Amino acid sequence: MAIRLSTDFDGGNGLLLNLDEGTGRPVVRFAAQPKNCPEAMWFHFRLDGLAGRGATVVLGNPEQTLGGGNWSGNRPVLRATDGAWRRTGQARAVPQPDGRTEYAWDLDADCNSLEFAHCFPYQLADWRALRDELSPTFRTGEIGVTLGDHRMARAYTGPAEADKPAVYLTARHHAGETPGSWVLEGVLRRVAADADLAKSITWWAVPFVDVDDVVGGSYGKDPWPHDTNRGYGRMQRRVEAKAIMADVVRIKRASRNILLLDLHAPSHHEQENYIPLRGWDFETPIDETARAFAEVYHTRIPEEIRSPIAHKTPKPAGEARILGMSSVRWGREMLGIDAATLETSYQGNGKVYYTIDDYRRLGSALAEAAAQWVRR
Ligand SMILES: [Zn+2]
Repeated sequence: MAIRLSTDFDGGNGLLLNLDEGTGRPVVRFAAQPKNCPEAMWFHFRLDGLAGRGATVVLGNPEQTLGGGNWSGNRPVLRATDGAWRRTGQARAVPQPDGRTEYAWDLDADCNSLEFAHCFPYQLADWRALRDELSPTFRTGEIGVTLGDHRMARAYTGPAEADKPAVYLTARHHAGETPGSWVLEGVLRRVAADADLAKSITWWAVPFVDVDDVVGGSYGKDPWPHDTNRGYGRMQRRVEAKAIMADVVRIKRASRNILLLDLHAPSHHEQENYIPLRGWDFETPIDETARAFAEVYHTRIPEEIRSPIAHKTPKPAGEARILGMSSVRWGREMLGIDAATLETSYQGNGKVYYTIDDYRRLGSALAEAAAQWVRR
């Protein structure tokens, strides 16, 4: 039976370049599809017709991904259909006759179908299952719709109250950055498991900002027509940002104090988690409040999954296409609230490669750190 590559499901991404079903293990060469973005990264596709042979999958366009062409330390994920996700082995460099390098992974799976993805996928169906599980501690409302007519969900423990501190969380401003979703899940699970945390602090969370690109399987970084996380404040250019700004202003007005946390993932190969202390554009100052919060979070993370660093100070790039205000910078500069961006690795901390449960444990530590911070 011929092998077939498909992406006709939520979050699907992967362009078949070549298929070699010769002798032995089939070789599937694919590209991470840029879709609407200047850089590619995310992929998640399904292979059918393997008949127990497994497959060697080869990434044909590593140089088009954010973070550059070296994928050698990367361990994406696979699952046999309806099975649990697991990491692949390390990438194998495949030098090309023209001097380029492509990267291959050997997938052993005694099955007919499997899925392969850059990191553990997190889709609307995962959110709906979590939402049902965490009810009634968390209820869900809608704060607006996206450019592409998707609804924007926001989970909340209750309305903001004047005598309570609040934490506002967002994930997937960049649609392919699924580690942020697993960390968010860890935060919400931790809160739902602790009546004191849930009652003494107001928790609001938007699980997907760029819902269109989450469903569409795009990486969603600097997408056409504009990055959702460069669209805040006076530079407001995305309707998704407008919904979140209105929501954050609402919770800020009614709460004692508030912490805004925005969950991301860095370049594909980075094996550290960190809070950037400034934006990438020239004029952003270093944020000492974010540095202090980064230290609080870092110390609460179990040692074996802790990042080697807590924060990072990026050099300003000043590239025209990334100009525009992020949610965190808007919160800090225009609302005067404490705010931080968290980058969580697709891979791990340089010692272990993260499992889904590890990401949840990071989220649990983040919930504790956020609670400690807003209660000061
Ligand atoms: Zn991001």
